[in-house]
Amino acid sequence: MSKNKARTIGELKASGYQPVPIREEMRRNLIAMIKEKKNIFPGIIGFDDTVIPQVVNAILSGQDIIFLGERGQAKSRLMRSLINLLDEEIPVIKGCEINDNPLAPICKWCRKKVAEEGDATEIAWLPREERYGEKLATPDIAIADLIGDVDPIKVAEGRYLSDELTIHYGLIPRTHRGIFCINELPDLTDRLQVGLFNLMEESDIQIRGYRIRLPLDVFLCASANPEDYTNRGRIITPLKDRFGAQARTHYPVTIEDEITIVEQERRQFSSDEFECYVPQYMKEIIAEITHLARKSPDINQRSGVSVRASIANYETILSNAIRRAVKLGEKLAVPRISDLPYIHSSTSGKIELESFEETKEEKVIDDLIKKAVLNVFNRYYQVAKLEGVVAQFSGGFSVEVSDMKNAKSYMHNIKEMMGLTNVVKVVADSERPETIAAAVEFVLEGLHLNKRLNKARVDGKTVYRR
Ligand SMILES: [Zn+2]
Repeated sequence: MSKNKARTIGELKASGYQPVPIREEMRRNLIAMIKEKKNIFPGIIGFDDTVIPQVVNAILSGQDIIFLGERGQAKSRLMRSLINLLDEEIPVIKGCEINDNPLAPICKWCRKKVAEEGDATEIAWLPREERYGEKLATPDIAIADLIGDVDPIKVAEGRYLSDELTIHYGLIPRTHRGIFCINELPDLTDRLQVGLFNLMEESDIQIRGYRIRLPLDVFLCASANPEDYTNRGRIITPLKDRFGAQARTHYPVTIEDEITIVEQERRQFSSDEFECYVPQYMKEIIAEITHLARKSPDINQRSGVSVRASIANYETILSNAIRRAVKLGEKLAVPRISDLPYIHSSTSGKIELESFEETKEEKVIDDLIKKAVLNVFNRYYQVAKLEGVVAQFSGGFSVEVSDMKNAKSYMHNIKEMMGLTNVVKVVADSERPETIAAAVEFVLEGLHLNKRLNKARVDGKTVYRR
């Protein structure tokens, strides 16, 4: 389409190009993508058999969609990826504020222009990224923001208030022939919900008492927390009916999916001179902490626990490992168990407790960490088979660990204790001291949590012994 792009309405007509309504365009492109086995929602993990079929069916039906889910369930990303279903670019009348279809303009400015200039009217090509609009619903959004208002400058130029040409269009008219998404729809005031409904259903906009017909072609989607949405009175019934499809999102079902998302989303720095390595069991512990938090009765499950908690915690333990590497002059940064207490800072802001006690939050997070380490450890090891290692502690042996202890000192423990090398090898996939140190801590903490070793804080250091 783009090699001989039309520049006027006349050229467009001659090319045979026929603009189609947004729902048809999305449907046609969706079907083509399914046929070509293309990934319709790149970067969306774990929704293949649950959310995505619902979204696909909604689009095939030409239905507007509302995504219901707790925070951090990729709702925004899903909505933004609908852009993939639009044509690369579409023709619009050049200079139109609402992307009018050159062959069927709806705004007065364009109708006047086409009446005067006819086939010579200039057109522009609008890329799909510019056909997407979104807004977070907050109580202070006004009709002017979403729908439009009278433009005082245009009035001052001598136009009458009743004249459509005095309107300053809001976000939704500016997304004409595109996709508009409203995040947290229930937070929109009733007045705006009514305005939105009239615009979508009756093609009417009312501005300062004047009714203007504007048959917009907008694919509407929205997101909401399920509880807010079902709450009586939070959304006016006609608007609720307007959404043909509800898609319920969810958190990653498996630890593997949680880890995949974390690795995809975490912040990466290209300039780092450090070599970083996060052992698989540490990744699993971070994901497990979040999965346990999502089941914890101490945590408010209505607001949920976002994947962002896993991402932030992963970044935190890696940063503490980097901090250690820099301080101690080590080459490789490997997060280990003694880095886990630092995730208090990255977890706190991402969970809401059922009760409001600061001391309780610390304990809740500590318990999550312990339970997660225990669960992951017991997936890798059978404690009964580690009695040989435990026995050596009975003879008065002890091991001191700390997040700022250098990795080489852990190598002495390995040499002194019979059998530990083989135990550590189960999870350490290299012989580098930093990897071994992390594995030693994992084994010791696992034995402690299985009540095979004591753990004591002595002079700011952690000591494992019998
Ligand atoms: Zn126009």
